[in-house]
Amino acid sequence: MCSVLFHTLFLSISVSSLHTSSSVSAKQHYKMLVLGGGSGGIAMSARMKRMMGAENVAVVEPSEMHYYQPIWTLVGAGAKTAASSGRSTASVMPSGVKWVKSKVEEINPDTNTVRTDDGTEISYEYLIVALGLQLHYERIKGLPDGFEHPKIGSNYSIQTVEKTWNALQNFKGGNAVFSFPNTPVKCAGAPQKIMYLSDSYLRKTGKRSKAKIIYNTSLPVLFGVKKYADSLWEIVKQRDLQVNLRQNLIEVRADKQEAVFENLDKPGETTVIEYEMLHVTPPMGPSLAIKGGPLADEVGWLDVDRDTLQHKRYPNVFGIGDCTNLPTVRTAAAVAAQSAILNRTISKTLKKEKPDKKYDGYTSCPLVTSYNTVILAEFDYNLQPLETFPINQAKERRLMYHMKADLMPHLYWHGLLRGLWGGPGPYRKLLHLGMK
Ligand SMILES: Cc1cc2nc3c(=O)[nH]c(=O)nc-3n(C[C@H](O)[C@H](O)[C@H](O)COP(=O)(O)OP(=O)(O)OC[C@H]3O[C@@H](n4cnc5c(N)ncnc54)[C@H](O)[C@@H]3O)c2cc1C
Repeated sequence: MCSVLFHTLFLSISVSSLHTSSSVSAKQHYKMLVLGGGSGGIAMSARMKRMMGAENVAVVEPSEMHYYQPIWTLVGAGAKTAASSGRSTASVMPSGVKWVKSKVEEINPDTNTVRTDDGTEISYEYLIVALGLQLHYERIKGLPDGFEHPKIGSNYSIQTVEKTWNALQNFKGGNAVFSFPNTPVKCAGAPQKIMYLSDSYLRKTGKRSKAKIIYNTSLPVLFGVKKYADSLWEIVKQRDLQVNLRQNLIEVRADKQEAVFENLDKPGETTVIEYEMLHVTPPMGPSLAIKGGPLADEVGWLDVDRDTLQHKRYPNVFGIGDCTNLPTVRTAAAVAAQSAILNRTISKTLKKEKPDKKYDGYTSCPLVTSYNTVILAEFDYNLQPLETFPINQAKERRLMYHMKADLMPHLYWHGLLRGLWGGPGPYRKLLHLGMK
């Protein structure tokens, strides 16, 4: 009897320390409420737990799974498995932090409350918004239904990333087409990384001579930072890859294997390309839980100060990552650098002091150019290179591929998500002997 009682007691204690749904919880107020349990949300909840104790922190996140999205580039090319990209949200949630397993519907910063999809209202003293961005496959006519056909894939979602690899493996001959949409995107290099990997794969398997590889981008440039763009143009020429600027994918006729592009410089002019393989990078936009609400800027992104990451109108609200209007390229590497700055901003705000550390816009994009080479682009708000290593990073290097494929996933799961990795800033200084 006694042992049964002990067992029951033990069980109820261990169950209560797990992260369970809010609907059974009586407590609906938190000192620190974090919206979104992706890269930025988990990193900040780990840091906030250290700052104010786990019992004061809650994270609202509906998804059972947490994905390391940067590895999807390699999953789409068959170099990693989709399974290796995901872990349960429960396993990455800092222990003792409350996991509210719901979707945020509305944020009311005037009353310091958030409403979730099950009607629950949660109040907060401080709020961190880390809701990521919204994918809009539906803005391309014929999608997402077109993904039911073969020959088409997209590395941008877990549902479609393996379709890229299937299309590549089943390539027989014809056009391999890669798109870049007419909106901001996360990881601006990813739409072309899969092109270089596909080129390598087709060379390895002896099919390259039967393929015409076409990169149709809405942008007027191949890459936004000149130093890296120059190297990429060289590669594109050497490998006979066709780059068409200002071409925007507007329709996919998956049954006929046709992709329709509009010429952004000549309204009304469209081109139809028959494809043997199509990789789609979808249009993207602000989180629907932010857009149109009091925290949004005129476009819909979270309106934060570019130096401190504090909201411009609500000083107890902060933002991190893809959901914000920080004028840099949206990446997990940017999230890492932002997490260290935001930690400092919040710590100062709690002490009623002025935030003193400034985010320089650091972001990084490992441009995978084959199955064993990477150009490691790192730059700031001004699109100026901000390189960690004292070597020319615009050169393709094997070492950087191993960093991307093997080292960075560890840094993500064990460093960033635990609030222990705030970007390479301190190491950059060391490696450049204090000169940068
Ligand atoms: C194919 C691909 C390649 C990439 N390559 C790289 C790379 O090489 N290097 C790099 O640094 N970055 C890369 N990235 C980008 C990187 O993954 C993101 O920039 C980063 O994950 C952003 O973190 P975040 O926290 O802002 O958003 P996310 O990690 O996307 O998290 C947002 C979270 O919010 C949750 N959420 C959404 N709506 C709601 C709601 N209404 N209520 C509650 N929760 C909600 C979501 O479920 C999600 O968990 C890549 C991304 C992709 C897709």
